[in-house]
Amino acid sequence: MRLHCMQLPREVIVGSDIIGAFGDLCKKLGFKGKVLIVTGPRMISFAKSKVGPILQEASFDVCYLVVEDSTIFWVKRAEERICEEAPSFVIGLGGGRDIDIAKLSSANKGVPFISFPTTASHDGIASPQASIKGLGKPYSVRCHAPIAIFADISVISSSPYRFIASGCGDILAKYTAVRDWRLAHKIRGEYYGDYAAELALMSSRLIMRNASAIRRLSRDAVKTVVEALISCGVAISIAGSSRPCSGSEHMFSHALNMIAPKPALHGEQCGVGAIMSAYLQGANWKLLRTVLTKVGAPSTADELGIKPRYIIEALTMVHKIRPDRYTVFGDNGLTATQAERVARASKVIT
Ligand SMILES: [Zn+2]
Repeated sequence: MRLHCMQLPREVIVGSDIIGAFGDLCKKLGFKGKVLIVTGPRMISFAKSKVGPILQEASFDVCYLVVEDSTIFWVKRAEERICEEAPSFVIGLGGGRDIDIAKLSSANKGVPFISFPTTASHDGIASPQASIKGLGKPYSVRCHAPIAIFADISVISSSPYRFIASGCGDILAKYTAVRDWRLAHKIRGEYYGDYAAELALMSSRLIMRNASAIRRLSRDAVKTVVEALISCGVAISIAGSSRPCSGSEHMFSHALNMIAPKPALHGEQCGVGAIMSAYLQGANWKLLRTVLTKVGAPSTADELGIKPRYIIEALTMVHKIRPDRYTVFGDNGLTATQAERVARASKVIT
């Protein structure tokens, strides 16, 4: 058996109104001195008014970097700041973009990082992967896992609901990702790990079971979404690859990002992709459609705000996004006629 390395977070803190405990967590992890907070324009005032003072109270010297996009340009800017400031740790505070920049730049500079999500839009909040534009790959790359995750449910609940619904789409996508992984194991003899697969599937089952409560924004249900996203990140760490969480439905989303004039959110696209992948897998695509609708996430091209022709084109590209990863789309993928048939039959386009 080849060497299998699992890198997991050391502390995972989830709760409501817990910001006050953040300084203690950072101290408990053994950090002192300077900290760099990487965040976006939307969260900088929250970072400076709420998080910064708590860290200063705990004797940390706080500096900030506002990043505007998840591109390699901003990763380099963050790396420069890390070199200038020499922080003992980096905090990625905000949505996926801010966390991904913090994750990759800190990994490249060998500095630990804490994930402080303020939305629950995808599993990047806990995974050892980062999705960065300009690396020549439309999919996420491996870097390092957060040393800790600090998720304040009251902060996440006050983010726009669309992000939470998108997070549900990303979690439901594990239903088809795991099926693709099993298929690759059978057909190509690819490594398959039952534990990681079950962890990812359990997360999708939790969303199915709690869909109505999530839509009502019940605190417990939002906590379930956040914990399920964290479990997905951990499943990736355990598998040693994003396989349990990213199958053909993710490749469909990556393809849409390449061709659609205005792509939707990652989890929204993965949710719709999962309906069509499940249809091809002979799995329960209607269940996915029902749950997406229940949580208020898109289940059609129309709801994604993407024209049917891009859906069809993206479906024909799925097999080319990551040829090393076998999925239900096979080695040759779908023709445009077949893609349209799949999209219509699964009611993604009408
Ligand atoms: Zn995802």
